[in-house]
Amino acid sequence: MGRSFDDIPVRLDRLERRSMYRRRRIVESAQGAELTVDGRRLLNFCSNDYLGLANDARIREAFRQGVDRWGVGAGASHLVCGHTAVHHQLEEALAQMTGCPRALFFSSGYAANLGVINALVGTRDHVFEDRLNHASLLDGGWISRAAFEWYEHGCVDDLEVRLTRVADEPGRRLVVSDGVFSMDGDRCPLADLASAAERHDAWLMIDDAHGFGVIGKTGIGSVDPDVFATAQVPVLMATLGKAVGTSGAFVAGDDSLIEFLIQRARNYIYTTALPAAVAAATLESLRIVMSEHWRREKLAELITHFRRGVHSLDIDLLPSQTPIQPIVIGDATAALAASRALETLGFLVTAIRPPTVPRGTSRLRVTLTAAHTTEAVDRLIAALGTVLGRTRNASE
Ligand SMILES: *Cc1c(COP(=O)(O)O)cnc(C)c1O
Repeated sequence: MGRSFDDIPVRLDRLERRSMYRRRRIVESAQGAELTVDGRRLLNFCSNDYLGLANDARIREAFRQGVDRWGVGAGASHLVCGHTAVHHQLEEALAQMTGCPRALFFSSGYAANLGVINALVGTRDHVFEDRLNHASLLDGGWISRAAFEWYEHGCVDDLEVRLTRVADEPGRRLVVSDGVFSMDGDRCPLADLASAAERHDAWLMIDDAHGFGVIGKTGIGSVDPDVFATAQVPVLMATLGKAVGTSGAFVAGDDSLIEFLIQRARNYIYTTALPAAVAAATLESLRIVMSEHWRREKLAELITHFRRGVHSLDIDLLPSQTPIQPIVIGDATAALAASRALETLGFLVTAIRPPTVPRGTSRLRVTLTAAHTTEAVDRLIAALGTVLGRTRNASE
């Protein structure tokens, strides 16, 4: 009997003592602006369902019809016999929407990021990542065995110093950034990243999980094809489980990139295709995302309203214009306590702690969606005032 893992209970205790223990809530209702947890209705301010589509009746119907037409399981990977006409149709719709020649449908954003980075770079190559990139991008870079460098968050000057330093070394260069940073809500300096990458003969990969569907008049996301050519952002990745409300992810780029990923992205090759019905539901969702501008307009109003209300309580917010509106608390224990206090008052706002965010920056990650009402946002603002011990400025 080996004892190598005898310390697991001790390690669990240690996590608990440091307020780093994670517990899953059991949700007893469908996604929406309210959720039922432990039989209580809570206002939900922590989902990524930014446009309120995860439980849309039209998308549910498309999903049901997809099941009737295609069954439940895809039966195999895309390269064997799991790639149906509706998977293919979804890829064509995504290519058209993003203005890229082609797109490839992955089973998740996590898989897509690992698959793409590992297909593109290996030993001898160089990966440069923003310090606040999503865990899946970091894992992708680390697993690739390419030389890995962080650059300071949003700092193109720091990136350029690093690119210059390896200018005489062999190998490819890949610069990777979130389009909208998942835990801060700010956007990457895309135009500057693209020109720095071009100057240093690097490829730029953007993960737009939180921008796709949300940014731009039609929800095109951070990478507007009217502004950026495919060659400037050769690798565009976005997920479909956030604003789009379904599941999966895609990579868009030119024909040779997509062909290469089909040959080489292990996370694409060695996994069962998502059910065709997911693709059918996603097609319907994309139609809604692109046409129902009111969802983004309402979201923009709620964001402005929330920021104004919170500022009037002298509570600091990060400089974010997206639905991600975190309130940095600092200490993990305090962030957890604030989240629990909000839950007692009827609000679900998760505390985000290290290693998801840097030490000392534990936060309440408030997210807004088009499904919220102004009244619900007002109630959240009041609750934040109570929990964080502030009262509304008399001058307001
Ligand atoms: C959520 C997220 C992912 C992972 O996508 P899944 O489809 O949930 O696996 C990747 N990148 C970013 C920035 C994300 O926020």
